[in-house]
Amino acid sequence: MGLDELPDVVYAPLGTRGVQPLPLKECPRCGNKEIEQLYVVSERKGSREKKDPKLNLQSVAVNEYDINCGKCDYNFTIRCENVYSDFQGKERVITFVHIITEDGRNEGWLGNY
Ligand SMILES: [Zn+2]
Repeated sequence: MGLDELPDVVYAPLGTRGVQPLPLKECPRCGNKEIEQLYVVSERKGSREKKDPKLNLQSVAVNEYDINCGKCDYNFTIRCENVYSDFQGKERVITFVHIITEDGRNEGWLGNY
């Protein structure tokens, strides 16, 4: 259990201007980036579920990581939506990352990897 299985940055598309790397392992309140001080309180791994075949989505699995910031004691959740699709006979995974705030609000889509 830990943040090791997540990448350090996710990429947010900037329209036609490419992508912008954004740090993933960061407290949304105080900006703490020290991973030793971002504690994984719990994590939930979802199972893969079939989605609409018309969208070329084979299945989606959601993993959530509840994080506590050791600096300011803020709690937030990193929600990773893994979308598995078939691309020219090979399986491709794109992960969409959302940040959920302490009061359960979805801060929106951060980026993907
Ligand atoms: Zn913090």
